[in-house]
Amino acid sequence: MAPPALPGPCPSPKNYVHWRGRIYTIYEPSLNLPAWYALQAQGSTIPCGSSRQGGTGMKVLSFADLALPEPIAKAVKDLGFEEPTPIQSLAIPLLRDGKDVIGQAHTGTGKTAAYGIPIVERVDPAGKTPRALVLCPTRELAIQVSEELRKLARYRRGLIILPVYGGQPIERQLHALKAGVQVVIATPGRLLDHIDRRSITLSDVGTVVLDEADEMLDMGFRDDIEAILKKTPPGRQTVLFSATMSKEILDLAARYQHDPRTVQVMHDKLSVPKIEQSYFEVRESGKIDVLSKLLDLYDPQLTLIFANTKRRVDEIVSQLQARGYLAEGLHGDMNQSQRERVMGKFREGRIDILIATDVAARGIDVPAVDLVVNFDVPQDPEYYIHRIGRTGRAGKEGRSFTFVSGKEMWKLRDIQRFAKIKIALQSVPKEHEIISRKAELMARRVRDLIDTGRLDPEILRVQQIMGEEYTSLEVAAALLSLYVGSGKPEK
Ligand code: ADP
Ligand code: MG
Repeated sequence: MAPPALPGPCPSPKNYVHWRGRIYTIYEPSLNLPAWYALQAQGSTIPCGSSRQGGTGMKVLSFADLALPEPIAKAVKDLGFEEPTPIQSLAIPLLRDGKDVIGQAHTGTGKTAAYGIPIVERVDPAGKTPRALVLCPTRELAIQVSEELRKLARYRRGLIILPVYGGQPIERQLHALKAGVQVVIATPGRLLDHIDRRSITLSDVGTVVLDEADEMLDMGFRDDIEAILKKTPPGRQTVLFSATMSKEILDLAARYQHDPRTVQVMHDKLSVPKIEQSYFEVRESGKIDVLSKLLDLYDPQLTLIFANTKRRVDEIVSQLQARGYLAEGLHGDMNQSQRERVMGKFREGRIDILIATDVAARGIDVPAVDLVVNFDVPQDPEYYIHRIGRTGRAGKEGRSFTFVSGKEMWKLRDIQRFAKIKIALQSVPKEHEIISRKAELMARRVRDLIDTGRLDPEILRVQQIMGEEYTSLEVAAALLSLYVGSGKPEK
């Protein structure tokens, strides 16, 4: 099907980025929004955004490129983020510049920090009244966002961030507000209560963020949002973040934003490799335990484990090593030669478990592995596809396990919806299953080994163990028992 004619001017070629082998486009206001929306609705992408159309491309930013002030850089490091996500890379410079922004990216792609970093960086902790306001659809989200912003503001002395939501006694909020607050994360209804009581004044607000704008509009908050926006200074920065774009959002943008920049993270179509995918519901603290059970049960030759942050990689490595597995980690803090050393070991089979972040695993030549484990549900559906694509190559059968705890279930649901795949729930194997499975595996290997017949030195040793007292059958049974882990001597 021929692409529809462009109703407006193309965005200039520099307005897209390449990131992780994909193209992300920034829409400049030269393409008017309703026209863009119409194109989106037809399911087409705008041709100028493609690298095949030429153009210079835009560099993907690293956290170093962003030149974050020391306290923020340190907090980001603590959080274990290796590099900005695309939406962060695109939105942070614009937001710092004071621009109004419409940001669209899938769930789990780091939209909170995309607006959170500029907020904690720019808001002056000296003020007594709110300087930045984030509106969220639900109390859970308000709490989650304020937790994330507090982490980002950890070294930003004196910056007070307060979630304000219905359901919590208003007195507690009044008390906190009196003491002075610079960043308020609120659900619309409760915020209006405070405005009515004059416990919150929005006259010094410089930035308003509507997080999950699509969600808020779906929930019927439109009038509340407008009432709130009208209480803020007209010169404020107005920011909309959303996982989807709609006519309603663009209407709101047209009425309350000035000269907005639209930042959209676009995906290519995904093709999903044929891999047996399942997930396990696990408590965060139980993940290592389940992992080692699965490793024992399936006994894969090469396993690749993905974690979302560098710190997680280190934790998993040391926990697995402590349990006697041959495991090593790979992440962005390692230099080239360190990485190559680890990769070499993995390729040669001197270690059989590699734990990596998405960033570290990208671009490296990992051999096809038998098992991919998502220790954490990935940030982005695409990561999931890339991760599991490391197994099941070249006609080999592949398997992937994903550990899901608590809120991660939502991300998993998104992944399934987005990639149009079904990931089956599997229950954690029981101890007796592991033992019988181990014995089964053992039997297979034993037969293979006998068939290849190079056992002379071992036969000698068995004869030594047998001595005068035992039969070879007894020795074999005892060795098997030791091997599968139930071989404790009876009292
Ligand atoms: P969204 O709002 O887009 O759904 P969130 O802001 O809730 O996504 O982020 C999802 C998760 O990703 C959070 O746990 C957050 O801490 C983490 N995250 C954010 N930015 C990064 C990054 N640059 N690298 C790694 N993880 C990140
Ligand atoms: Mg969000």
